[in-house]
Order: sequence, then C-alpha cells, then structure tokens
Amino acid sequence: MDLTQNVKAVQEKIAAAARAAGRDPGEITLCAATKVQTDETIRAVIAAGVPVCGENRVQELTAHLDAGAYAGAQVHFIGHLQTNKVRQVVGRVALIHSVDSEHLLRAIHRQAEKLGIVQDILLEVNVAGEESKGGCTPEALPALAELAQKSGCVRLRGLMAIPPVSTGLGANRKYFSQMRNLFVDIMKKMSDNQDVMDCLSMGMSADFEDAVAEGATLVRVGTALFGPRPPLGTPR
Ligand SMILES: *Cc1c(COP(=O)(O)O)cnc(C)c1O
Repeated sequence: MDLTQNVKAVQEKIAAAARAAGRDPGEITLCAATKVQTDETIRAVIAAGVPVCGENRVQELTAHLDAGAYAGAQVHFIGHLQTNKVRQVVGRVALIHSVDSEHLLRAIHRQAEKLGIVQDILLEVNVAGEESKGGCTPEALPALAELAQKSGCVRLRGLMAIPPVSTGLGANRKYFSQMRNLFVDIMKKMSDNQDVMDCLSMGMSADFEDAVAEGATLVRVGTALFGPRPPLGTPR
C-alpha cells in the first residue's frame, strides 16, 4: 500500500467530482478517518498532505494526542461521543462532528465554559432514520441548532451525516441531497448570528464523490487511504 499515492488518488477524485459539479475543489477538505491506525501511519498520512484527521474513539484520540502523532494536521472527533467522555475531547480537537442531543450539547458547553474556550461543533443528523445509528432526526434539528446558537461556549459550524453503508455510487445520493437542503435551511435560520456555518461533513470511501456532487465541504475517508480495516472486535 502506498499512502502517498492513495492520498493523491483520493484528492484527484475529489477535485474531479467538484469540477464536474461546477465547484471549486478548494472548497472541499479531506479528513482521514484514522480509527485503528498507528501513530506511524497517522504521521505518514499527514506527511502525504492530508490536512485533517478524524478520530472515532476517545481512547485512540487520547493516545495519539499524547504521542504527538497529529502534528501538522487538525484533529476532529467524528465518532459517537458519550457525555461522560466529553472532558477528554472538548478543547483537544478543532471540531466535534457528532453532537446529536441536547444533553450532549449542554455537556460540551459546560466543559468549554470551564476551560474558558469556544468549542466548534457540528450537529449529526440520522438522515436515513436508521435505528442503529446516532444522529438527531431532521425534525429535531432546528431546536438543537437554536440551543447551540444560544450556548456561548459552542459554535455551530454545520452538519454531519453517516448514511447507510453504500452499495455503490448513486446509492446514497438522495441522503446527501437531503443533507444539503437541511444545511441550507439551518444556515438561513442562523443568518443573523455570528456562527459560521461552513461545514457539511458527509461522504466516505464508497461515496465521497456523490457527497461532493451534493455539496459536501468535508469528506471523511478511511479505507480508500489506508486499505481495509480489521473487522470490529478483532484483537490487535
Ligand atoms: C470509519 C469512518 C469513516 C470512513 O469510512 P471508510 O468507509 O473507511 O472510508 C467516515 N466517517 C466515520 C464517522 C467513520 O467512523
């Protein structure tokens, strides 16, 4: 596996999808989904030009931060976040993608307030209504956005979605399109606010080109950069 080549290939595909949609490729940020990767691999992917690393698990995030593995890149938290782990994440990452409840939002606000900082967040939407997944319903989104706007120690930067496992290009396009509409709606509601709604986080290895076509500003890519991961629960 050649990381440098994979990064280049993914960046070229992002740029091609952007141009095909009449977008400036510079509007789209590549975030490497680094779950299960080693410090060494993370350093290598950053050296290959990836500007953002997205981490799923608090334990891995903390270990890589302590090792200084993310030097030269921004770090985002993209996995499900339990309220009791908020303290380990707030103030240590540039953006939390997975805020999906009032409870979690308030916990992040409180921790940020304690630290005297403003934490950037995205609201995660369960756009396909899948039982097994995190994310708020599209119906719950306006109230959550309003609460975020009122919470001085969080800054709402946009939305995130993890649609169903893609069965190929085209399969998730309708969800990406729905997300873009929700994003535009929320942005309009926030227009008199100083919050900067500039991030629509959607698209993974199997479907990031569709996501770019539908307006993603950040794609989270793992497998296409690092190769297949061991199945969940495999001892390492
Ligand atoms: C693992 C993961 C990704 C990347 O998935 P791939 O299919 O390997 O590209 C993106 N987003 C989140 C939240 C993830 O957990």
